[in-house]
Amino acid sequence: DAASLVEPPSKPRKVSRQNHMPLVAIIGRPNVGKSMLVNRISGAFRTGAVVEDTPGVTRDRTYRVASWNRWQFRVVDTGGLVFDDRPGDVFLPQIRQQAMIALREATVAVLVVDGQEGFTALDQEIASFLRKTCDEKGAFGRRIPILVAVNKCESHVHGEAQAAEFWQLGLGQPMPVSGIHGSGVAELLDEICYYLPAPSEDSEKAISLESSVRNVAIIGRPNVGKSSLLNALLGEERAIVSQVPGTTRDAIDELVVLRDERTGDEVGYMLIDTAGVRRKKNVEFGTEFFMINRAFKAIRRADVVLLVLDMEQGIMDQDAELAERIVDEGKACVLVGNKWDALGKKDNRIYNDLQRHVRDRLPMVDWANTIFVSAKTGQRIERILELVDAAAKEHARRVSTAVLNEVLLEAVQWQAPPTSRGGQSGKLYYCTQVAVKPPTIAFFVNNPQLFPDTYKRYLERKFREALGFQGTPIRMLWRERK
Ligand code: GDP
Ligand code: GDP
Repeated sequence: DAASLVEPPSKPRKVSRQNHMPLVAIIGRPNVGKSMLVNRISGAFRTGAVVEDTPGVTRDRTYRVASWNRWQFRVVDTGGLVFDDRPGDVFLPQIRQQAMIALREATVAVLVVDGQEGFTALDQEIASFLRKTCDEKGAFGRRIPILVAVNKCESHVHGEAQAAEFWQLGLGQPMPVSGIHGSGVAELLDEICYYLPAPSEDSEKAISLESSVRNVAIIGRPNVGKSSLLNALLGEERAIVSQVPGTTRDAIDELVVLRDERTGDEVGYMLIDTAGVRRKKNVEFGTEFFMINRAFKAIRRADVVLLVLDMEQGIMDQDAELAERIVDEGKACVLVGNKWDALGKKDNRIYNDLQRHVRDRLPMVDWANTIFVSAKTGQRIERILELVDAAAKEHARRVSTAVLNEVLLEAVQWQAPPTSRGGQSGKLYYCTQVAVKPPTIAFFVNNPQLFPDTYKRYLERKFREALGFQGTPIRMLWRERK
C-alpha cells in the first residue's frame, strides 16, 4: 500500500574512498583476444564466478576485478572492437589514446599479441610506444613493467615457437597463453603479481567493497527525467569518488559509495555511462539510433537497470521496448515512476491505479518493483538504491537443487503437465540451477515439445511464489533426458 512507500529511509550516508586496488592494463590491437583474456583472468579463478561477456561482441571497455592467490587487482581492457570500421594505421592514435587513460593508473601493463597471426608492424609500433611511455622518464614519471602475452597459443607443440617470434618486440620474454583454453594464464598471473604491491591488511575492506560493486544503468525515453534522477542520486554532497574514463571519450562511469548507518556496511554503485545520461540532446548524439544503441550497450553492462518512466505521461511503446530488452539481456530491473510531484493530489486509489497501469503496460517485467519518485523534489529518491540492492541480490542468488526440486514436485502435484493431442504427456524429472545473473534453471524432461507456454508460465509463477526472485528475470532451459 501507499503508506509503505513513505516509510523512513535507512539514511545511507555517502562516504568517499580511495581506490586501493592495483590496476593491470591490457593493451593490444583489436582482435588479438584481449577481452577473452580479461574474462579468463577475472572470471576463471573466482569461485562461482560466471563469465558474462560474450567474446567478440562489441563493447566499450571492461574494468574487472580479479584475484590470484592473495592478490586482488583490477584489469582493464583497452582498444577493443570499437574501431572495427577503421582499417589500417588509423588504429594507432586511438590505441595510444586509450592506453594512456589506462596506464595513468596502471601498476603493470600487458601487451597482448596474436601468436597465430604472428608478428605485425602494428604490434611493433604499440611496443615502442609502450617502451617510451612506461619508462621512468616517460609520460608518467615512473616505470610501468610491460609483459608480453602471446595469445592463441593453445598448441603445446607450436606455442613456444609462436611466442619466440615476439622477442623482437624488445620487451623481454614473450609468454605463450591461450585465452580460450586457459593455458599459460597461471604463469602470466604469477608474473603480473610479482610486480604488484603485497596485499595489505587495511586495503581489504576496500577490496571487498570493490568486488561487490553493483553496476547500474539509468535507462528511459528522452525527457522522462534520467539526468535529473542521476543528479538527485548523486546528491548535494556529490560523493563521486571515482570517475572512470572510458576508452571511448564520452563514456564515464561514476561510483557512489553508500554506507548503511545501521549495519555499517558499505555498498558501491557504479552508475554506468553517466556521460551518456547527462548529455543534452545535441546534434551529434541526438539521433534516435544513437541513443537507443547507447542505451542497449549500457543495459548490457549493467547488473541492475533503472527503467525510468514518466508518470505524468504514462507508459508508452518505447518504454515496453526497453523493458523487453532488459528481459532479453537477463538483467535485474527497478521501475522508477518519475514526476510523482506533477500528479497533484494523490490517494491510495490513484497509487493503485498507477501501479496497475505500469504492470498492464509492462507485463514482461511484472517481477520488478515499481517505485514512484520525484527527481525534482527528491521524494523517495533514497529508496531507489535500496531496491537496486535487493534486486541485485536476487539476480545473483543461488538456490540449492534440493529446494528447487521440492518446489517442482509440489508444482507438478498441484497441476500436472497437460496431455498432448497424441496422448503423450510431459514428464519432469528434475531441475537444477545452472547459472546466476540471471538465475537460470534447467529442467530435465522427457520431451521439451510436450510443455506448452502456459505450463511453463505456470511453473515460473510457482517458483516465484515459493522462492521470490523479486526484481530479477528467471531463465528456464528445457533439456531432453531419455
Ligand atoms: P580483442 O578485440 O582483442 O578484445 O579480442 P577478443 O577477445 O574479442 O577476441 C578476438 C577473436 O579472437 C575472437 O574471435 C576470439 O574468439 C578469438 N580468440 C580470443 N582468444 C583466443 C585464444 O586464446 N585462442 C584462439 N584460437 N582464439 C582466440
Ligand atoms: P532526460 O532526457 O530523461 O535526461 O530528462 P531530464 O532529466 O532532462 O528531464 C526532462 C524534463 O523533465 C525537464 O524539464 C525536467 O525538469 C523535468 N523533470 C525531471 N524530473 C522531474 C520530476 O520529478 N518532476 C517534474 N515535475 N519534472 C521533472
